[in-house]
Amino acid sequence: MTPLAQTLIAQIAECGPMTLAEYMAHCLMHPEHGYYATRDPLGAGGDFTTAPEISQMFGELIGLSLAQTWLDQGAPAPFVLVEPGPGRGTLMADILRATRAVPGFHAAARVHLVETSRPLRATQAAALAGASPVWHDAVQTLPDLPLFMVANEFFDALPIRQAQRDGAEWRERMVGRDGDRLIPGLAAPSVLPPLAHRLDDTKDGDIVEFSPAATHIAAHIGAQIAQRGGAALIVDYGDWRSVGDTFQALRAHAPADPFDAPGTADLTAHVDFEALARAAAPARHSRLTPQGVFLERLGITPRAQKLAQTLVGDARDAHVAAHRRLTHPAEMGTLFKVMALYPEGAAPPPGLSE
Ligand code: SAH
Repeated sequence: MTPLAQTLIAQIAECGPMTLAEYMAHCLMHPEHGYYATRDPLGAGGDFTTAPEISQMFGELIGLSLAQTWLDQGAPAPFVLVEPGPGRGTLMADILRATRAVPGFHAAARVHLVETSRPLRATQAAALAGASPVWHDAVQTLPDLPLFMVANEFFDALPIRQAQRDGAEWRERMVGRDGDRLIPGLAAPSVLPPLAHRLDDTKDGDIVEFSPAATHIAAHIGAQIAQRGGAALIVDYGDWRSVGDTFQALRAHAPADPFDAPGTADLTAHVDFEALARAAAPARHSRLTPQGVFLERLGITPRAQKLAQTLVGDARDAHVAAHRRLTHPAEMGTLFKVMALYPEGAAPPPGLSE
């Protein structure tokens, strides 16, 4: 049994079953035994990899889209350039490199990072030493300035709750115990106000997910953007509306049982983009767009061809494979989606439409 399993089983014995959100938060963020609190999970030696770790082109194009949006909004200065969940700092480093030539952008940018993992903060500090980033535990403490943000694979890591439709009520999925094993179960039916709008499009037995943590963050970001200007690019796997059980564990790049050995696997769920868009009002939201389409519109193919000219052999093959991986429908191209938040009266960031 992992040390975290012991702690959780003791807590359940004393207080009863916990929500999936509570379980997920312990597994990912427990200060001593949590998954992110204890390791750098990215890359070939870790449990999963992400778009910026696959190719520099991802961050370059995101950077140019954000910089153009900043110019379109009249180049406000100063502004916050923020990334929640910056991993190894690779995406922010690529954004900063790609925007060096945009007049005034670096002079006006204040780089802020929202990160709860201490080991990853150390990695970010090394990757972004020249940018003097400021770290936060939560988005609520970001400065009150125009806010230009990118979040890649951040929202999928936030704790979700799950419920199964039962008549006009819902049975919430809880984590309980059977001896010294953690097992999922269903609570008694009850009314769940956050799911009131889902009574229209679900039937008995359907499972839906919702993330109070995610909507709380989206509400704050949306209010800041609506009031002060800026834009947020949200990139993640998921869809407009959540239907079904998407709670999953990944260990060493392979699916695992999310209730086995808590704290040792990455736990995620698909992002419900509609819930983020609703929470972010009065900020406007773009159309939800497949990542492959977004990157093609921003010119990833000519950029890939230009970079390929400087490469030979294995490096060239890896580069061609990375381009395919980011954009092809059978890889990350359609599973991953992009949505922007932006103020009323402003244009959506390049690559996205109203
Ligand atoms: N954006 C990066 C990393 C994605 S992994 C990339 O694309 O490579 C998820 C990141 O979110 C990690 O940095 C993790 O530590 C961070 N994270 C997870 N939950 C968080 C929370 N509740 N608050 C702040 N950061 C969180």
